[in-house]
Amino acid sequence: MRFNSKVIHGGQEPDKAYGAVMPPIYQTSTFAQTSPGNHRGFQYSRSANPTRTALENAMASIENGNYGLAFASGLAAIDAVLKLLNPGDEVISTNDLYGGSYRLFKKIFENYGIVFHFMDMEEVSLVQDQINERTKMIWLETPTNPLMNIIDIEAVSQLATANGLLLAVDNTFATPYLQKPLDLGADIVMHSATKYLGGHSDVVLGALVVKDEELAKRLYFIQNASGAVSGPMDSFLVLRGIKTLHVRMQRHCENAEAIAHFLRKHPKVDTVYWPGFEEHPNHDIAKKQMVNFGGMLSFVPKGSDYKVTLQFVERLKIFTLAESLGGVESLVGHPASMSHGSMSKQERDKAGIADALIRLSVGIEDVDDLIEDLSQALDESLI
Ligand SMILES: *Cc1c(COP(=O)(O)O)cnc(C)c1O
Repeated sequence: MRFNSKVIHGGQEPDKAYGAVMPPIYQTSTFAQTSPGNHRGFQYSRSANPTRTALENAMASIENGNYGLAFASGLAAIDAVLKLLNPGDEVISTNDLYGGSYRLFKKIFENYGIVFHFMDMEEVSLVQDQINERTKMIWLETPTNPLMNIIDIEAVSQLATANGLLLAVDNTFATPYLQKPLDLGADIVMHSATKYLGGHSDVVLGALVVKDEELAKRLYFIQNASGAVSGPMDSFLVLRGIKTLHVRMQRHCENAEAIAHFLRKHPKVDTVYWPGFEEHPNHDIAKKQMVNFGGMLSFVPKGSDYKVTLQFVERLKIFTLAESLGGVESLVGHPASMSHGSMSKQERDKAGIADALIRLSVGIEDVDDLIEDLSQALDESLI
Protein backbone atom coordinates (compact mmCIF):
# COMPACT_ATOMS: atom_id res chain seq x y z
CA MET A 1 0.00 0.00 0.00
CA ARG A 2 1.19 3.53 -0.77
CA PHE A 3 1.58 6.19 1.91
CA ASN A 4 -1.62 8.08 1.05
CA SER A 5 -3.63 4.89 1.56
CA LYS A 6 -1.65 3.76 4.59
CA VAL A 7 -2.61 6.88 6.54
CA ILE A 8 -6.24 5.77 6.20
CA HIS A 9 -5.99 1.97 6.30
CA GLY A 10 -2.53 1.08 7.60
CA GLY A 11 -2.65 -1.36 10.52
CA GLN A 12 -6.44 -0.91 10.76
CA GLU A 13 -9.27 -3.42 10.66
CA PRO A 14 -12.98 -2.94 11.38
CA ASP A 15 -13.73 -3.27 15.08
CA LYS A 16 -14.25 -6.89 16.09
CA ALA A 17 -17.35 -6.28 18.22
CA TYR A 18 -19.72 -4.55 15.75
CA GLY A 19 -17.62 -3.77 12.68
CA ALA A 20 -17.33 -0.07 13.56
CA VAL A 21 -15.23 1.54 10.82
CA MET A 22 -13.46 3.84 13.26
CA PRO A 23 -12.02 2.17 16.36
CA PRO A 24 -14.33 2.90 19.29
CA ILE A 25 -12.93 4.89 22.20
CA TYR A 26 -12.51 2.06 24.70
CA GLN A 27 -12.83 4.27 27.74
CA THR A 28 -12.15 1.55 30.26
CA SER A 29 -9.36 0.84 32.70
CA THR A 30 -9.83 -2.92 32.79
CA PHE A 31 -11.23 -5.93 30.89
CA ALA A 32 -13.28 -8.93 32.08
CA GLN A 33 -11.52 -12.30 32.33
CA THR A 34 -13.45 -15.59 32.24
CA SER A 35 -10.87 -17.31 34.44
CA PRO A 36 -7.53 -15.95 35.68
CA GLY A 37 -5.38 -15.09 32.67
CA ASN A 38 -8.14 -16.02 30.22
CA HIS A 39 -9.04 -12.82 28.32
CA ARG A 40 -9.35 -11.48 24.77
CA GLY A 41 -5.92 -9.90 24.57
CA PHE A 42 -6.52 -6.98 26.89
CA GLN A 43 -6.28 -6.97 30.70
CA TYR A 44 -5.56 -3.49 31.95
CA SER A 45 -5.36 -0.25 29.96
CA ARG A 46 -1.86 0.76 31.09
CA SER A 47 -0.50 -2.43 29.50
CA ALA A 48 -2.70 -2.19 26.39
CA ASN A 49 -5.99 -0.67 25.30
CA PRO A 50 -7.68 -1.43 21.94
CA THR A 51 -7.94 2.23 20.88
CA ARG A 52 -4.29 2.80 21.72
CA THR A 53 -3.30 -0.41 19.94
CA ALA A 54 -5.13 0.79 16.81
CA LEU A 55 -3.10 4.01 16.92
CA GLU A 56 0.15 2.13 17.61
CA ASN A 57 -0.47 -0.09 14.59
CA ALA A 58 -1.26 2.93 12.41
CA MET A 59 1.95 4.63 13.55
CA ALA A 60 4.03 1.54 12.77
CA SER A 61 2.45 1.36 9.33
CA ILE A 62 2.99 4.98 8.25
CA GLU A 63 6.62 5.02 9.48
CA ASN A 64 7.40 1.70 7.73
CA GLY A 65 8.20 0.11 11.09
CA ASN A 66 6.96 -3.04 12.79
CA TYR A 67 6.06 -1.81 16.27
CA GLY A 68 4.41 1.39 17.48
CA LEU A 69 4.11 2.73 21.03
CA ALA A 70 1.92 5.63 22.12
CA PHE A 71 2.66 7.82 25.15
CA ALA A 72 0.99 10.61 27.09
CA SER A 73 3.19 13.23 25.36
CA GLY A 74 6.16 13.55 23.04
CA LEU A 75 8.40 14.09 26.05
CA ALA A 76 7.06 10.94 27.71
CA ALA A 77 8.08 9.06 24.54
CA ILE A 78 11.60 10.56 24.70
CA ASP A 79 11.75 9.75 28.42
CA ALA A 80 11.05 6.08 27.60
CA VAL A 81 13.85 6.01 25.01
CA LEU A 82 16.37 7.46 27.47
CA LYS A 83 15.43 4.77 30.00
CA LEU A 84 17.11 2.28 27.66
CA LEU A 85 20.38 3.79 28.96
CA ASN A 86 22.41 3.29 32.14
CA PRO A 87 24.40 5.72 34.31
CA GLY A 88 27.69 6.55 32.62
CA ASP A 89 26.28 6.13 29.11
CA GLU A 90 26.74 9.03 26.70
CA VAL A 91 24.43 10.49 24.08
CA ILE A 92 25.35 12.74 21.17
CA SER A 93 22.59 15.13 20.18
CA THR A 94 21.94 17.97 17.74
CA ASN A 95 22.43 21.36 19.38
CA ASP A 96 19.44 23.36 18.19
CA LEU A 97 16.93 20.74 19.22
CA TYR A 98 13.47 21.16 20.74
CA GLY A 99 13.83 23.09 24.00
CA GLY A 100 11.84 20.54 26.01
CA SER A 101 14.05 17.69 24.84
CA TYR A 102 17.09 19.73 25.85
CA ARG A 103 15.56 20.38 29.28
CA LEU A 104 14.72 16.67 29.76
CA PHE A 105 18.28 15.68 28.83
CA LYS A 106 20.06 18.31 30.93
CA LYS A 107 17.81 18.84 33.93
CA ILE A 108 16.50 15.30 34.47
CA PHE A 109 18.68 12.63 32.90
CA GLU A 110 22.03 14.23 33.66
CA ASN A 111 21.06 13.80 37.34
CA TYR A 112 20.92 10.06 36.69
CA GLY A 113 24.45 10.01 35.35
CA ILE A 114 23.75 10.07 31.62
CA VAL A 115 26.04 12.44 29.72
CA PHE A 116 24.90 14.51 26.74
CA HIS A 117 27.05 16.15 24.08
CA PHE A 118 25.37 18.73 21.87
CA MET A 119 26.81 19.45 18.48
CA ASP A 120 26.21 20.66 14.98
CA MET A 121 25.67 17.42 13.03
CA GLU A 122 25.62 18.92 9.56
CA GLU A 123 29.26 17.94 9.20
CA VAL A 124 28.84 14.21 9.83
CA SER A 125 32.59 13.52 10.13
CA LEU A 126 32.65 15.73 13.26
CA VAL A 127 30.17 13.35 14.93
CA GLN A 128 32.75 10.58 14.72
CA ASP A 129 35.14 12.66 16.86
CA GLN A 130 32.58 12.77 19.71
CA ILE A 131 32.17 8.99 19.87
CA ASN A 132 33.95 7.12 22.64
CA GLU A 133 33.49 3.74 24.35
CA ARG A 134 30.71 5.13 26.58
CA THR A 135 28.66 6.52 23.69
CA LYS A 136 25.42 4.54 23.31
CA MET A 137 23.00 6.70 21.35
CA ILE A 138 22.71 9.47 18.81
CA TRP A 139 19.64 11.69 19.17
CA LEU A 140 18.87 13.60 16.04
CA GLU A 141 16.27 16.13 14.98
CA THR A 142 15.88 17.14 11.33
CA PRO A 143 14.78 19.68 10.23
CA THR A 144 16.09 21.19 13.44
CA ASN A 145 14.05 23.50 15.59
CA PRO A 146 14.01 26.47 15.08
CA LEU A 147 16.76 26.97 12.47
CA MET A 148 15.65 24.38 9.90
CA ASN A 149 19.05 22.80 9.55
CA ILE A 150 18.99 19.48 7.75
CA ILE A 151 21.00 16.50 8.91
CA ASP A 152 21.81 13.59 6.65
CA ILE A 153 20.00 10.74 8.43
CA GLU A 154 21.50 8.04 6.23
CA ALA A 155 25.07 9.25 6.79
CA VAL A 156 24.59 9.47 10.57
CA SER A 157 22.95 6.05 10.59
CA GLN A 158 25.97 4.51 8.85
CA LEU A 159 28.16 6.03 11.53
CA ALA A 160 25.84 4.76 14.28
CA THR A 161 25.83 1.24 12.83
CA ALA A 162 29.61 1.19 12.40
CA ASN A 163 30.00 2.12 16.08
CA GLY A 164 27.20 -0.05 17.48
CA LEU A 165 25.09 2.95 18.58
CA LEU A 166 21.32 3.38 18.60
CA LEU A 167 20.09 6.15 16.34
CA ALA A 168 16.87 7.88 17.42
CA VAL A 169 15.26 10.49 15.17
CA ASP A 170 12.68 13.03 16.29
CA ASN A 171 10.49 13.13 13.17
CA THR A 172 7.95 15.63 14.53
CA PHE A 173 8.69 18.45 12.06
CA ALA A 174 8.88 16.33 8.93
CA THR A 175 6.28 13.63 9.67
CA PRO A 176 6.44 10.36 7.71
CA TYR A 177 4.74 12.18 4.82
CA LEU A 178 8.04 13.95 4.17
CA GLN A 179 10.68 11.54 5.47
CA LYS A 180 10.90 8.04 6.89
CA PRO A 181 13.93 7.72 9.18
CA LEU A 182 13.60 3.93 9.61
CA ASP A 183 14.02 3.52 5.84
CA LEU A 184 17.19 5.62 6.13
CA GLY A 185 18.64 3.36 8.84
CA ALA A 186 17.39 4.87 12.12
CA ASP A 187 16.53 2.46 14.96
CA ILE A 188 13.87 4.55 16.67
CA VAL A 189 11.51 7.21 15.32
CA MET A 190 9.94 9.55 17.84
CA HIS A 191 6.95 11.87 17.39
CA SER A 192 5.25 14.60 19.25
CA ALA A 193 1.90 13.63 17.72
CA THR A 194 0.65 16.80 19.42
CA LYS A 195 1.85 18.56 16.27
CA TYR A 196 1.21 17.42 12.67
CA LEU A 197 -0.05 13.89 13.33
CA GLY A 198 -2.87 15.13 15.57
CA GLY A 199 -2.94 18.20 13.38
CA HIS A 200 -5.77 20.12 15.06
CA SER A 201 -4.15 21.48 18.23
CA ASP A 202 -6.55 19.53 20.40
CA VAL A 203 -4.42 16.76 21.91
CA VAL A 204 -1.03 16.09 23.54
CA LEU A 205 0.45 12.69 22.66
CA GLY A 206 3.77 11.06 21.83
CA ALA A 207 4.81 8.01 19.84
CA LEU A 208 7.73 5.74 19.05
CA VAL A 209 8.15 3.37 16.12
CA VAL A 210 10.84 0.71 15.73
CA LYS A 211 11.55 -2.20 13.42
CA ASP A 212 13.55 -4.46 15.71
CA GLU A 213 11.61 -6.90 17.90
CA GLU A 214 14.10 -6.94 20.79
CA LEU A 215 14.18 -3.16 20.96
CA ALA A 216 10.36 -3.09 20.80
CA LYS A 217 10.15 -5.50 23.73
CA ARG A 218 12.45 -3.36 25.86
CA LEU A 219 10.42 -0.24 25.03
CA TYR A 220 7.05 -1.95 25.71
CA PHE A 221 8.45 -3.02 29.06
CA ILE A 222 9.43 0.57 29.88
CA GLN A 223 6.09 1.89 28.58
CA ASN A 224 4.15 -0.44 30.89
CA ALA A 225 6.55 -0.22 33.84
CA SER A 226 6.83 3.60 33.80
CA GLY A 227 3.22 4.03 32.74
CA ALA A 228 3.18 7.28 30.74
CA VAL A 229 0.66 5.89 28.23
CA SER A 230 -1.80 7.83 26.08
CA GLY A 231 -5.46 7.59 27.02
CA PRO A 232 -8.15 6.13 24.73
CA MET A 233 -9.70 9.49 23.79
CA ASP A 234 -6.34 11.05 22.93
CA SER A 235 -5.33 7.96 20.96
CA PHE A 236 -8.57 8.25 19.00
CA LEU A 237 -7.98 11.91 18.18
CA VAL A 238 -4.51 11.23 16.79
CA LEU A 239 -5.76 8.24 14.81
CA ARG A 240 -8.38 10.52 13.28
CA GLY A 241 -5.78 13.21 12.59
CA ILE A 242 -3.48 10.78 10.78
CA LYS A 243 -6.21 10.02 8.24
CA THR A 244 -5.82 13.49 6.70
CA LEU A 245 -2.07 13.85 7.25
CA HIS A 246 -1.12 13.63 3.58
CA VAL A 247 -3.70 16.20 2.48
CA ARG A 248 -2.80 18.63 5.23
CA MET A 249 0.96 18.24 4.72
CA GLN A 250 0.64 18.93 1.03
CA ARG A 251 -1.08 22.26 1.78
CA HIS A 252 1.28 23.10 4.69
CA CYS A 253 4.21 22.68 2.28
CA GLU A 254 2.63 24.76 -0.51
CA ASN A 255 1.72 27.61 1.84
CA ALA A 256 5.12 27.62 3.56
CA GLU A 257 6.88 27.75 0.20
CA ALA A 258 4.86 30.80 -0.89
CA ILE A 259 5.52 32.51 2.45
CA ALA A 260 9.24 31.71 2.40
CA HIS A 261 9.54 33.43 -0.99
CA PHE A 262 7.42 36.38 0.13
CA LEU A 263 9.59 36.93 3.21
CA ARG A 264 12.84 36.57 1.31
CA LYS A 265 11.84 39.44 -0.98
CA HIS A 266 10.58 41.67 1.83
CA PRO A 267 12.80 44.72 2.51
CA LYS A 268 12.40 44.44 6.30
CA VAL A 269 13.43 40.80 6.45
CA ASP A 270 17.02 39.66 6.77
CA THR A 271 17.57 35.89 6.91
CA VAL A 272 14.85 33.36 6.11
CA TYR A 273 15.49 29.80 7.27
CA TRP A 274 13.69 27.37 4.97
CA PRO A 275 15.31 24.23 3.50
CA GLY A 276 13.60 24.68 0.12
CA PHE A 277 15.89 27.54 -0.91
CA GLU A 278 18.67 26.41 -3.22
CA GLU A 279 21.16 28.44 -1.20
CA HIS A 280 20.13 26.73 2.06
CA PRO A 281 23.37 25.02 3.17
CA ASN A 282 21.76 21.57 3.25
CA HIS A 283 19.27 21.96 0.43
CA ASP A 284 20.65 18.93 -1.44
CA ILE A 285 20.28 16.65 1.57
CA ALA A 286 16.75 17.95 2.14
CA LYS A 287 15.93 17.13 -1.47
CA LYS A 288 17.45 13.69 -1.11
CA GLN A 289 15.75 12.59 2.10
CA MET A 290 12.49 14.59 2.09
CA VAL A 291 9.56 14.58 -0.31
CA ASN A 292 9.01 18.32 0.20
CA PHE A 293 10.23 21.02 2.60
CA GLY A 294 7.56 21.15 5.28
CA GLY A 295 5.37 23.77 6.88
CA MET A 296 7.88 25.33 9.27
CA LEU A 297 10.15 28.30 8.69
CA SER A 298 11.97 30.95 10.70
CA PHE A 299 13.24 34.42 9.94
CA VAL A 300 15.05 37.37 11.45
CA PRO A 301 13.95 40.95 10.77
CA LYS A 302 16.53 43.38 9.33
CA GLY A 303 19.11 44.52 11.83
CA SER A 304 18.23 41.60 14.12
CA ASP A 305 15.90 44.05 15.79
CA TYR A 306 14.19 42.54 18.81
CA LYS A 307 11.78 45.54 19.00
CA VAL A 308 10.60 44.85 15.47
CA THR A 309 10.06 41.22 16.41
CA LEU A 310 7.81 42.17 19.32
CA GLN A 311 5.81 44.69 17.29
CA PHE A 312 5.49 42.24 14.44
CA VAL A 313 4.11 39.35 16.48
CA GLU A 314 1.69 41.65 18.32
CA ARG A 315 0.34 43.07 15.04
CA LEU A 316 -0.43 39.74 13.40
CA LYS A 317 -4.14 39.01 13.14
CA ILE A 318 -4.43 35.55 11.58
CA PHE A 319 -1.20 34.04 12.92
CA THR A 320 -1.74 33.35 16.62
CA LEU A 321 1.14 33.89 19.02
CA ALA A 322 1.34 30.52 20.75
CA GLU A 323 3.58 27.61 21.62
CA SER A 324 3.32 24.47 19.50
CA LEU A 325 3.07 23.88 15.76
CA GLY A 326 1.64 21.60 13.14
CA GLY A 327 -2.06 22.41 13.51
CA VAL A 328 -4.37 23.51 10.72
CA GLU A 329 -4.14 27.11 12.00
CA SER A 330 -1.06 29.29 11.52
CA LEU A 331 0.99 30.04 14.61
CA VAL A 332 3.87 32.39 15.29
CA GLY A 333 6.46 31.84 17.99
CA HIS A 334 9.42 33.64 19.49
CA PRO A 335 11.92 30.85 20.23
CA ALA A 336 14.20 32.89 22.53
CA SER A 337 11.40 33.51 25.03
CA MET A 338 9.06 30.61 24.26
CA SER A 339 10.13 27.19 22.91
CA HIS A 340 13.81 27.76 23.75
CA GLY A 341 13.33 29.87 26.89
CA SER A 342 14.82 27.16 29.10
CA MET A 343 18.20 27.55 27.34
CA SER A 344 20.54 30.25 28.64
CA LYS A 345 21.40 33.19 26.37
CA GLN A 346 24.88 31.72 26.00
CA GLU A 347 23.51 28.32 24.94
CA ARG A 348 21.15 29.98 22.45
CA ASP A 349 24.01 32.03 20.99
CA LYS A 350 26.04 28.86 20.61
CA ALA A 351 23.14 27.26 18.73
CA GLY A 352 22.72 30.39 16.57
CA ILE A 353 19.22 31.26 17.84
CA ALA A 354 19.01 35.06 17.60
CA ASP A 355 16.92 37.01 20.12
CA ALA A 356 14.96 38.48 17.21
CA LEU A 357 14.26 35.14 15.52
CA ILE A 358 10.61 34.51 14.63
CA ARG A 359 9.28 31.02 13.92
CA LEU A 360 6.19 30.35 11.83
CA SER A 361 4.09 27.22 11.77
CA VAL A 362 2.29 27.82 8.50
CA GLY A 363 -1.28 26.53 8.60
CA ILE A 364 -3.62 25.51 5.83
CA GLU A 365 -5.64 28.74 5.57
CA ASP A 366 -5.82 30.58 2.23
CA VAL A 367 -2.22 31.56 1.60
CA ASP A 368 -3.18 35.02 0.30
CA ASP A 369 -4.75 35.82 3.67
CA LEU A 370 -1.60 34.63 5.42
CA ILE A 371 0.67 36.73 3.22
CA GLU A 372 -1.55 39.81 3.66
CA ASP A 373 -1.36 39.33 7.41
CA LEU A 374 2.43 39.04 7.43
CA SER A 375 2.66 41.98 5.06
CA GLN A 376 0.55 44.37 7.17
CA ALA A 377 2.39 43.38 10.35
CA LEU A 378 5.81 43.96 8.76
CA ASP A 379 4.79 47.22 7.10
CA GLU A 380 3.60 48.70 10.35
CA SER A 381 6.60 47.62 12.41
CA LEU A 382 9.49 50.03 13.07
CA ILE A 383 12.67 50.38 10.99
C1 LIG B 1 6.61 19.51 20.82
C2 LIG B 1 7.84 18.75 20.50
C3 LIG B 1 8.31 17.75 21.37
C4 LIG B 1 7.64 17.45 22.70
O1 LIG B 1 6.38 16.90 22.52
P1 LIG B 1 5.15 17.10 23.56
O2 LIG B 1 4.04 16.38 22.89
O3 LIG B 1 4.93 18.57 23.71
O4 LIG B 1 5.58 16.49 24.85
C5 LIG B 1 9.45 17.07 20.99
N1 LIG B 1 10.09 17.35 19.83
C6 LIG B 1 9.66 18.30 18.99
C7 LIG B 1 10.42 18.57 17.74
C8 LIG B 1 8.53 19.04 19.29
O5 LIG B 1 8.12 20.01 18.47
